[in-house]
Parts: sequence; structure tokens; C-alpha cells
Amino acid sequence: MSILEAWSSGGVDLQRTNIKIAFRTNNTIYNQLTHKTHKTDEYTQSWVYELTCPDCNKAYVGQTERSFLVRYSEHKQAFRNNSHASKVAQHLVEQAHSFGTIHNTMQVLHYQKKSAHLNRVERYYIHVEFTASNHLNNRTSFPM
Ligand SMILES: [Zn+2]
Repeated sequence: MSILEAWSSGGVDLQRTNIKIAFRTNNTIYNQLTHKTHKTDEYTQSWVYELTCPDCNKAYVGQTERSFLVRYSEHKQAFRNNSHASKVAQHLVEQAHSFGTIHNTMQVLHYQKKSAHLNRVERYYIHVEFTASNHLNNRTSFPM
């Protein structure tokens, strides 16, 4: 059982055990999109992704059932419109930080078929960033 599975099943209390989760995939979007074995079916696949602020490295974790490019564009649109629909955009506007390119800001954290489990996976990664004081997510509302 992986630490992720253990956490998802409630078998590990990260806050109590203070386990430092340091692993992170090195899968870039480019790799995901070009990887031959990952044929993306956008109607049955979901992704947990991370957007990183290029200026301060704070991270936002979200999930999408659509393509990264679409989701990236939505965040960027929110940034341009000074919209609070995106926590990332809100951060960038408030801090006067820059919106990076899709290649240097957006990263695949997890990839799997759509399921309730995906919400747990997303919350797990949000938790990881939260414990690292590196989060942009508003934990009281479900992120965009
Ligand atoms: Zn920033």
C-alpha cells in the first residue's frame, strides 16, 4: 500500500504523525501529452494538477476533466479579467506576480479515471502544500 492509498483510506493521520511527503512526479504536461501510453479520453479521465506561481513558488492544486490547455486558459482569463474565480489569478493580481507559461507553471500530479477517489487525491495534494505553507487553495471551498 502506498502512502497515498494509506492516507486515502484513512489509515494514516498525516497531521498526527507529521510525515513529510516529499515525493512529486516529474511529469510535465508536455510529457503527459506526448506520452504514447496516455491516450487522453477527456470524457473518462480526470487530472489533478498543480499551478505554481513563477514568482514565489506558491502552489495551487486543482482538478479537471478537460484538457490542461483549457483549464490553463481559464486561469489565465481570470487573471486578465481580475476575476476572483481563480485563486491563482487572485494571488497573482494581489501580489503583482506574473502569470507563467503552461510549461513552467502547470504540472500533472495525478491521472486517473473519474471517480470519487479523485477528490481525495486532490485533497491529499492540497494537504501536502498546506502543511508546507505553500498553498493558494482556500480550504473551506472546493477549488476551481
Ligand atoms: Zn506568487
